[in-house]
Amino acid sequence: MIQSQNPANGKLLRSFDPLTPEALNAKLAIASSAAKTYPRESIDLRIFWMRRLAALLEADREELAVTMTSEMGKTLVSARDEVTKCAAACRYYADNAVRFLTPERIATEHAESYVRYDPIGLILAVMPWNFPLWQVFRFLAPALMAGNVGLLKHASNVPQCALAIEALVRRAGFPRGVFQTLLIESRQVEIVLSDPRVVAVTVTGSEAAGRAIAAQAGWLIKKSVLELGGSDPFIVLPSADLDAAITNAIKARCINNGQSCIAAKRFLVHDSIYPEFEKRFVAGMAALRVGDPMLDSTDIGPLATPQILEDLLEQVTRARESGGRVLTGGSRAVVEGSRFGNYFQPTVIAGVMRNAAITQEELFGPVALLFRISSLDEAIALANDTPFGLAASAWTTDDAERQRLSVELQAGAVFFNTPVASDPRLPFGGTKRSGYGRELSAAGMREFLNAKTIVVAEHLAETNPTPIQKPHAEPRPEKPNEFQHIADQLRKFEPRRPFGEPNPPKAAEPVNPAPAKPASDKPEDPPPPRGTSILGLR
Ligand code: NAP
Repeated sequence: MIQSQNPANGKLLRSFDPLTPEALNAKLAIASSAAKTYPRESIDLRIFWMRRLAALLEADREELAVTMTSEMGKTLVSARDEVTKCAAACRYYADNAVRFLTPERIATEHAESYVRYDPIGLILAVMPWNFPLWQVFRFLAPALMAGNVGLLKHASNVPQCALAIEALVRRAGFPRGVFQTLLIESRQVEIVLSDPRVVAVTVTGSEAAGRAIAAQAGWLIKKSVLELGGSDPFIVLPSADLDAAITNAIKARCINNGQSCIAAKRFLVHDSIYPEFEKRFVAGMAALRVGDPMLDSTDIGPLATPQILEDLLEQVTRARESGGRVLTGGSRAVVEGSRFGNYFQPTVIAGVMRNAAITQEELFGPVALLFRISSLDEAIALANDTPFGLAASAWTTDDAERQRLSVELQAGAVFFNTPVASDPRLPFGGTKRSGYGRELSAAGMREFLNAKTIVVAEHLAETNPTPIQKPHAEPRPEKPNEFQHIADQLRKFEPRRPFGEPNPPKAAEPVNPAPAKPASDKPEDPPPPRGTSILGLR
């Protein structure tokens, strides 16, 4: 049984039976058929649908935000922002698809040599509950823009979010089967991945899920991308702006009720500023308001499930046993009128032994571990002393320190003087046991594209009946890019705007378009003019 339960009060909202084998097979058949026809749709049509999806997200923002908050407890304020970010990602890929997909000419001795970026087909996405929309959209937007087709196995506690995403994609006009939600249990993932119609998998979640799915994908020789956990360091050095560092340390730990892979989890603070940092950080954490996530005044809502609460309590106990002093929090939070809510107090623990097992784990809730460091060397060594390698935030204005941290921190991203955040324009992903592969930006789109090399040898037959192989032929000088004018033409479809700017109103992009007929393969609104194919890039 797949259940949607409100973590703020424990109420069961809805439950769903997992798909039967027959229903699952029917969905796979529809997806597989879409994978054959969808890449033939012109890129301008795909851009059109993607923009409409962005507009629909914005039009339905409140409803979507309420669904997220009700199912997994993030504050409604942050849920609204999450919807807006999904719309921005759709627009980012709509704006940049032509640039990312245009074949790249490479100068060689041949008449023609270039790389095409072709979609690979039907991809399974196994996703977590913590950002129920954003995690899915950062797969969905580049995949669909590139001509791939997606199947979503969302976390079992957010089925209504999963169904809402599928409905949005259909209403935007994307053909039937291009993106479907599978209401299945985790044990059914194996069945889907082993189906020959599925060619690749992307997983965002825990190490355990990543390991199980990647092992199977490896055995089947199917491409996989893993976005797993993290224990990101937040390093504060003497030259830092301490006010900004403390304010952002609190935000970085408590974002999404502390349940973010890139939330800062270990705070490494230099001796010279440690006493002041500790005092003000603890006071700031203690002052956060824990409560009903629907209220604008709430800073921290409930944890997503009772199990996460139990796990966190157990980790705090072990942190104490490993020498940790709880400076604030450390137990369940009592919220009036919410006896069954999964609330946890914002918690700061200092003095945990550095070799304790707990320092090697991810703390998925508002619990910060504080460490004192006396040098940059020590900061780097401690920051890297974790099985994870997702990201790091470092606070310093010293150029030499910045250089060393950029090079020596083992992480997929290092952010200076700002907390780590995902951004459609920047690659996102980890090293070590935080996973492999990248999401977002061109890199994320290309994870699931076939970089196909095309070579056309010299056409000597017309001038010389005996082809002569030149032993040491010089590479040909680069020709003007013959794909360029086509790319330019496609770009005129809509002028590009810098990321984050509002979308200008467009006649062809109604803010609240009517739902598409579920059984039809065509959008209801008349499509925009079709683009020219660039050597098969449509
Ligand atoms: P999770 O328990 O691993 O679940 C993630 C997804 O995997 C769910 O859909 C889950 O389905 C499925 N799943 C779990 N075990 C599986 C298995 N053995 N075989 C197949 N599917 C399986 O993780 P979570 O608790 O939802 O999410 C929290 C974790 O995700 C944290 O570690 C966090 O750091 C990580 N995360 C990483 C990123 C990133 O970008 N690096 C982003 C967000 C979250 P069920 O719900 O049905 O079990």
